[in-house]
Amino acid sequence: MLKLFPYLLFLFVFHCTTVGFHETKVRESISFGPEANFRVCILKETDITKEETETLFLAWNEELALYNLKAEPILLDVIERPGFWGTDILGYLMNRQLTKGCDRLLYLKGRTWGDIGFEVLTLGIFVGVGLKLEVQGAVEGQTNTRGYIKAKYISTIQFLFTSPKSTLIHEGYHLLGCGHQLFMKECYEKIRNVKLLLTDPNRDPNFFPVITTTGKKILFPPNFQTNFNKY
Ligand SMILES: [Zn+2]
Repeated sequence: MLKLFPYLLFLFVFHCTTVGFHETKVRESISFGPEANFRVCILKETDITKEETETLFLAWNEELALYNLKAEPILLDVIERPGFWGTDILGYLMNRQLTKGCDRLLYLKGRTWGDIGFEVLTLGIFVGVGLKLEVQGAVEGQTNTRGYIKAKYISTIQFLFTSPKSTLIHEGYHLLGCGHQLFMKECYEKIRNVKLLLTDPNRDPNFFPVITTTGKKILFPPNFQTNFNKY
């Protein structure tokens, strides 16, 4: 337990910046099978440039190469933010159909004057009580196919703890079905199992499957008939 203390402390301080600590030896002992691609359809705000999107995917794909995986970005739409809160964005994504040619939906959130004001406000809370209120990104937990990240670099203290690249890598793990764990073994096995589903004859051959954080296998593009309830 004492040995784990620095890790626990790190997790506590960094909360949602890591899904777990890498275990290189364990990872290298797992066979992730042949190279596979999945298509990530992007909805973005106007201030996110093509270069920023490319840089983000370059970083993510460097991480995904560990598993012989590649995320292929496809720009779907440039839209106005559906609401101020992360839950507004997630709700919007849940109500949006996962169209043909999309395995995942990713919303790239920009940075407005309203956001800057909110950052300043939460910065005060951060300094005051050590709480980090501002959420950098999230993936819905019902299907693990839709999520958003704050895609603009910021200049406040949060820059010290996170970056859009590390947020995308983090949320990227959730898009593959991983939850949070202290060490990554469970997540490696999840990714291997998701890749094994590619050979499942019952799956939609045009959809990259997922196993949700709760263990539900999703072999077809999951769409929601009814309005998604925010949580
Ligand atoms: Zn997370």
